[in-house]
Amino acid sequence: MSIRTGPDGDVSIGNDLRDVLCLTADGRLYISKTHITAPNVRAFMGRLDRLGEQYKVVQCELGKISQIYESYSADGGDVLSIFQGKAVDLFARAVSENASDIHLSVSKTEATKIKFRINGMLQLIEEHPYDFGQKLCSTIYQSLTDVSAPTFETNAPQDARIADKKNLPNQINGIRIATGPQVDGFLMVLRLLYNPTNMDLNLLSLGYSEAQKKDIEDIEKNPTGIAVIAGSTGSGKSTTLQRILTRIIESSKGSINVITVEDPPEYLIKGAIQSPVANAKTEEDRSAAFQLAIKAAMRLDPDSMMVGEVRDHPSASLAIKAALSGHPLWTTVHANNGFGIITRLLDIGVSINLLCDPNVISGLICQTLARVLCEKCKVKLSDNKGEVSAEDFARYTEKLEIENVYLRGCGCEHCKNTGVTGRTVVAEVIKTNYKILELIKAGNHEEAMKYWVSTGGITMKGHAISKVNAGICDPSDTESLVGQF
Ligand SMILES: [Zn+2]
Repeated sequence: MSIRTGPDGDVSIGNDLRDVLCLTADGRLYISKTHITAPNVRAFMGRLDRLGEQYKVVQCELGKISQIYESYSADGGDVLSIFQGKAVDLFARAVSENASDIHLSVSKTEATKIKFRINGMLQLIEEHPYDFGQKLCSTIYQSLTDVSAPTFETNAPQDARIADKKNLPNQINGIRIATGPQVDGFLMVLRLLYNPTNMDLNLLSLGYSEAQKKDIEDIEKNPTGIAVIAGSTGSGKSTTLQRILTRIIESSKGSINVITVEDPPEYLIKGAIQSPVANAKTEEDRSAAFQLAIKAAMRLDPDSMMVGEVRDHPSASLAIKAALSGHPLWTTVHANNGFGIITRLLDIGVSINLLCDPNVISGLICQTLARVLCEKCKVKLSDNKGEVSAEDFARYTEKLEIENVYLRGCGCEHCKNTGVTGRTVVAEVIKTNYKILELIKAGNHEEAMKYWVSTGGITMKGHAISKVNAGICDPSDTESLVGQF
């Protein structure tokens, strides 16, 4: 690829135009924002139109134009396309290693470090000089994303998205990009958005227990009410939500209208109408845009709705309104356990009376992801007592089936020397009922929890212990997620 309006390009232009615009071989016509209406620029676009050229106008800062010409002419030519190629190769490699994220940390003192997050852990993949990272990141941001005015800033946070499939491996349908400055450089994080094709819709394969799966299916059958999934960022709640909604749509054989309101849609949900929330700069604008999108979705005759996240009082009120008017609704909040969802909703100003109306909340689900030990190299705790402290061993002996417990091994070829091969859900699923809601309403969350456990409820800690007792998860690794056993 080259610059068509460059000195050796096939579209000849004068230097006056070359100062303010640039046509690249991929059909992008970069034009300085302040010159977009200049007569010579309009005349040039007219010329392209007459020649039947297809092009896409990208408005940018004036300084950007000379940077683009320079980036092509440096290093004997096509630097932009060289770095595009490197970026595309990097995406393919990350997907082949099942990475969830790519981190590009670019620092003048620490150079450029490329890391993949695999099974929740960051792994260093490559190191390069500072300039390499600078060029790679600006190429990714400026030539691969769908940002309308792509000027890559190293000193301010930016967001973007790569949606053009031709630059992506088949297994993913997009990449979400976030960047931010660090002391002597910047960090770019790329979240890979995997396709749902050939997805196993069974919640058991995510790690839910048989009883939890049944409870979720009961919650799904509720004709009204809000089901809330909680968890921290990276807890896998979007994947769970995607599977639940896909199954609801599939089992209805397309006879129901499912509308999602997401900012932005994270996964493709086949058969759902996924409406993105308009891009907004401030938190206030974002909240307003979110409310508008929920209202718009409610007018579109939904049978079921999904609201990406309830983050403030207005969106919570709208979600409750939707639920009370007969639209079962799924959403997420940030909370650390099932009952914590109630606390979170109270914190953002939802009234306790409303929350404890049996028609409002149908289910409280909370999840996190624990690492799955490598079958080939995990080691038995009882043969390796020296690996844990005496204090921990005493606690494990008291709380666990010690003979069935395994620890993370030293790593092998099978697990690429990490000791783990994937992640599994550790969760609690609370099907709310009158008694539980009464106890919550009386302010007695602890009693509500005790009552729920007495009726067979499995807490996240309980679920985690069952996985350690099955030799699937390492005890200390799992305690770091759910607290001491
Ligand atoms: Zn291994």
